[in-house]
Amino acid sequence: MTTAAILTAAGRGTRAGGECPKQWRLLAGRPVLAHALAAFAGRADISRIILVIHPDDRALAASLLGPRTSVVVGGADRAASVRNALRALRGTDTTRVLIHDGARPLVSDAVISRVLGALETHPGAAPALAVTDALWRGGATVTGTLPRAGLFRAQTPQGFAFPAILDAHEAHSTAAAADDVEVARAAGLDVAIVAGDEDNLKLTWPDDFPRAERLLAARTAKGPPMDIRTGNGFDVHRFGPGDHLWLCGQRIAFPRGLQGHSDADVGMHALSDAIYGALAMGDIGQHFPPSDPRWKGAASHVFLTHAISLARESGFALTHADVTLICEQPRIGPHAGAMRAELARLLSVDITRISVKATTTERLGFAGREEGIAALATATLVRP
Ligand code: MG
Repeated sequence: MTTAAILTAAGRGTRAGGECPKQWRLLAGRPVLAHALAAFAGRADISRIILVIHPDDRALAASLLGPRTSVVVGGADRAASVRNALRALRGTDTTRVLIHDGARPLVSDAVISRVLGALETHPGAAPALAVTDALWRGGATVTGTLPRAGLFRAQTPQGFAFPAILDAHEAHSTAAAADDVEVARAAGLDVAIVAGDEDNLKLTWPDDFPRAERLLAARTAKGPPMDIRTGNGFDVHRFGPGDHLWLCGQRIAFPRGLQGHSDADVGMHALSDAIYGALAMGDIGQHFPPSDPRWKGAASHVFLTHAISLARESGFALTHADVTLICEQPRIGPHAGAMRAELARLLSVDITRISVKATTTERLGFAGREEGIAALATATLVRP
């Protein structure tokens, strides 16, 4: 299962008031769309995220992009926007897609999980709330009443098997559909209803903003204070012919080299894996397969900067990293300061948050016999 999320944010709607479209208005100091994005980017089971934006909003969207997050320009209406995003997923390994309204910034992890859970057994699934208020027809006065039994208020994300939902959108008539469930049903897809959430409101009217601010504040007050993660990494590279080594981003003259598919910077590999580990998002080999010739001889800062940008995209900051190099030779002490400085630069953190140290194994084992170098790393990530 490879899951993509599409966040629709191309509308120009200004019913909610304000100077800019509602998805770009600030809510608790961040754009509405950034809150919605964080709900999906914070999950390890979402592989790619597409923001569907208006062409005028490219600069606004730039700050939200990350390794998994890209933008697609929307179309003339909502359906055309979704279709553009679905087409962008063609040719990827996506097997299911969540389509979410970028103006629903308070979508919870639980709602997303319920939709994904129902997709295990249905080609479509969407959250909704049973209508509990009485329903009237009328204008200034009530002219009639409607039965509410069996009626639901639809929410997002609406999830579907891919490419079935792409086919459904391609086949859909030009008649405007209220949402993607309507498009899916027109194509014969069965859509399960899962429990929605009263707080998963769609910002539509001016009063919705202060309400969303209150809900966010309450969530922060009652939720876990912060998410603190510790990840570890371990790596070994074998000595081979050469006249230098790369260790923690430093080129060190040495009568042998380290063998590997990339530049074999064992310290940077261990640290990258520690960050992936803290995120529970795999390891270097998963993101940069050794079978892919693009990474042959690659400088290892590519892996480290990918790992840290994945952390940032998921809302985490790196607060500390500790790397231990295990070898008899070369002596690490004279290079440790420059190694710390380079890692701190690549990770955009202060050098006081980065430790590089070394140990020998008292001439025991492969490191002791000087057959290769091992490295251990620990990374601590914090999400407020
Ligand atoms: Mg390695």
